[in-house]
Amino acid sequence: MQQPQTYQDVTLITPTAPMSPAVHGGRAKCLQRLIRLDMPVPTTLALSFDAVLRCAKGKLPDMQALLAPFGPDPLLSVRPSSQDPDWGGPGAILNIGLNDATHAALARRVGEEAATALYVRFVQSYAVHVARLDPDAFDFPKMKDSDALRVALDTYEFEAEEPFPQDVAVQLSEVLRSMARAWDGTSARLLREAKGAPVDAGLGLVVQALALGVGADESGSGVIQFVSSSDGQPQVTGRYLSQSQGRDALNGRDGAMFLTSDPRGQGLEDICPAAFAALIHYGEICRARLREEMQIEFTLENNVLHILDAVRVQRSSRALVQIAVALASAGIIPREEAVMRVPPNALSEMLHRQVDPAATRDIIVRGIGASPGAATGRIVLSAAEAQASAARGEPCVLVRRETTPEDIRGMHAAQAVLTMRGGITSHAAVIGRGLGVPCVVGASDLTIDRKRSEIVAPGGRRFAAGDIITVDGTTGTVLAGAPQMLEATLDDAFQTLLTWADDFRDIGVRANADTPTDAQTASNFAAEGIGLCRTEHMFFEGDRLGVMREMIFAATADDRRVVLDRLLPIQRADFIKLFSIMDGRPVCIRLFDMPLHEFLPYDKPGQRDLAEQLAMPLTAVTDRVQALSEYNPMLGMRGVRQGIAIPEIYEMQARAIFEAVACVTGQGLSVQPEIMIPLISAMREVELIKTRIDSVAAAVQRETGIAFAFKLGVMVETPRAALRAQDIVKYASFLSFGTNDLTQMTYGLSRDDAGRFMSAYVQQGVYEEDPFHTLDLEGVGELLAIGAARGRAGRPDVVVSICGEHGGTRAAIGFCRSQKFNYVSCSPFRVPLARLSAAQLTLADRAAADGRQAAYTQMPMK
Ligand code: PEP
Ligand code: MG
Repeated sequence: MQQPQTYQDVTLITPTAPMSPAVHGGRAKCLQRLIRLDMPVPTTLALSFDAVLRCAKGKLPDMQALLAPFGPDPLLSVRPSSQDPDWGGPGAILNIGLNDATHAALARRVGEEAATALYVRFVQSYAVHVARLDPDAFDFPKMKDSDALRVALDTYEFEAEEPFPQDVAVQLSEVLRSMARAWDGTSARLLREAKGAPVDAGLGLVVQALALGVGADESGSGVIQFVSSSDGQPQVTGRYLSQSQGRDALNGRDGAMFLTSDPRGQGLEDICPAAFAALIHYGEICRARLREEMQIEFTLENNVLHILDAVRVQRSSRALVQIAVALASAGIIPREEAVMRVPPNALSEMLHRQVDPAATRDIIVRGIGASPGAATGRIVLSAAEAQASAARGEPCVLVRRETTPEDIRGMHAAQAVLTMRGGITSHAAVIGRGLGVPCVVGASDLTIDRKRSEIVAPGGRRFAAGDIITVDGTTGTVLAGAPQMLEATLDDAFQTLLTWADDFRDIGVRANADTPTDAQTASNFAAEGIGLCRTEHMFFEGDRLGVMREMIFAATADDRRVVLDRLLPIQRADFIKLFSIMDGRPVCIRLFDMPLHEFLPYDKPGQRDLAEQLAMPLTAVTDRVQALSEYNPMLGMRGVRQGIAIPEIYEMQARAIFEAVACVTGQGLSVQPEIMIPLISAMREVELIKTRIDSVAAAVQRETGIAFAFKLGVMVETPRAALRAQDIVKYASFLSFGTNDLTQMTYGLSRDDAGRFMSAYVQQGVYEEDPFHTLDLEGVGELLAIGAARGRAGRPDVVVSICGEHGGTRAAIGFCRSQKFNYVSCSPFRVPLARLSAAQLTLADRAAADGRQAAYTQMPMK
């Protein structure tokens, strides 16, 4: 039987010493691996988390024992070693052990100038980071090092009221104590918690013999990596500071030399080819044995190479994907691990243009990031101006209090959308995500000054229509001007990773797509079908809005049918396109679901235009608008209620769908049509609509002579529909949970107005998160579980899915998997993220079932 490891508080790192990242931190463990790989790592000791905790409380380890492995008059460095290197830690302190005597000895060895420079740096960093003296008092930018040393030592004595410590044991114990305490500081704790560290995350420290990188022969220090941080492709880059005799190179001003063929001078490969070749070899060993692309920190001392440390190469999202795929393709890590290494949000950064992290950000206002990506354009304040701007070829940002369906063409024309009102499921947010247009909503600190055609930001900053701003939908910020951007990049590695993810996941992923453009995007991202086509959005395209308005003004059912007959071919053409693009994959079309008054102009000039168009008196238009207005339209005449009260609309839509099916079937394409009824709450609603739809299907089959099959199902958007799912499935072969409305109705929260108080609710802990953003697993989730279970009790093969905006989120996907849903459906641009999340959740479950921890190294599972 294997003996349990016993860990020491202070451990000399050898190939066999018991050492664990959970006890000594990631850096200590990594150094042990480098030592095992026979790299020339200077003598190093590791202090465990417990030992460091005791240092913070003033109980230091036996310093004589600790110093023993380093021999007489050691020069040392101390570096942090947190469990996950990304959690950071206090800065390293170098050159510990320098005092007047060792300085003199060092000067004899490496020259006065180099030795003095090192001593000055040490006094400065000790004074500021260990003794916590005023940094300004130790800043000597213009002074020669020999003068600076004298001033630094005098200043130290004056400020600290004691001479600079000369005993290495004292220096080292003070360094250990100060680093241990820094880890306990509030800002350090908040910083690491933001990176996913647990509250009680520990800090280890490594004490290492200093490999100075100074000497008579070629000496210097540097870092080297073997892939590019920006795209992950193989490329040797790094930096080497050569400290040749007589050159003022230690401060890095003149001695910088680049490893690759640098036009300014020689590279390390020319100066010391043997060291360069060894570093290349170590890079390969790291890749193969540590299964990572590492950046190696090294020194050269009289042509002798020392490896001080190795850390994971910093990487952009693109490089992260490339490196994971390259390591798996080379057989170094399994594909499962490559899939686990990429946090889904990294894909989001690749799918959209982003503000360059290095760019200066002049933030005007903050809101809710509702559709990711960033875009720059001139401010326009109406949909018509947005269209005019697009026609002139001028990129624009549409700024509205909130958007309504009337704005849709303007949203198409704009590069980005910014609204003052609304939340994550508002019209602007849903459409923005569907179109892939960056969108910030609910920027409530912004106002529009219509008279002056200006927007007014907090602090009174004004921006006129035509001024350039940037909407960053990833961070929910709006920036002045046009900061530098990073382009979206969908490279081969991205596609490969997602194909692997598809091999692992056990839940389907479809897209919410309303238009052929959406469907094409969904198809490009390999969605398995359309899970929700919101047909009402189709009525805002081109000149359909006018016909729709005529229909609303029709006096009788017959008049309405006449107008609907004009919409029929238009709808049919839409569906033909969707079916053709999805080519055999299921397309779930939701019947009309929108209060009719949303199609009518709400302002006087718009109503006057409509009166002209319909050749009606203005009062007739205003009366109709008045008559259609409801106190609570979201709970009023929408969804299936329109289908029951005004059957002609659903009949027209069903006919358009079936004629499209017949048409594409006649062309030899395969098609899987699904018709979905919105907002139901009673079985009888479904029964009535099904009877009518079945009779339209029979009529179209008769007329065209083409037989086809279709599925009819319902959206579960009211709590009652979930509770009564068992009888509802008598007439429905699938249940799709519309969690936007279901959240609204479960909480009794208006999805359009909740943004006004949501931040107060979240801040005060009433809700952990905005439930429109993060699926409420406890309440709404229980309704999903009840609905799915009761639905299956009534019809065991009922297909169950989710199509609300939550559908693409990790939490919702996890929950839906746990309830054995068949698929999730989300906006097209979220499809890749959903595919990856679904695969990671499946792999994590599999690993847990096998009693393993999933190899998920980049980000804790959330
Ligand atoms: C829903 O309510 O979750 C849904 C998908 O429908 P909509 O957002 O169109 O109301
Ligand atoms: Mg809904």
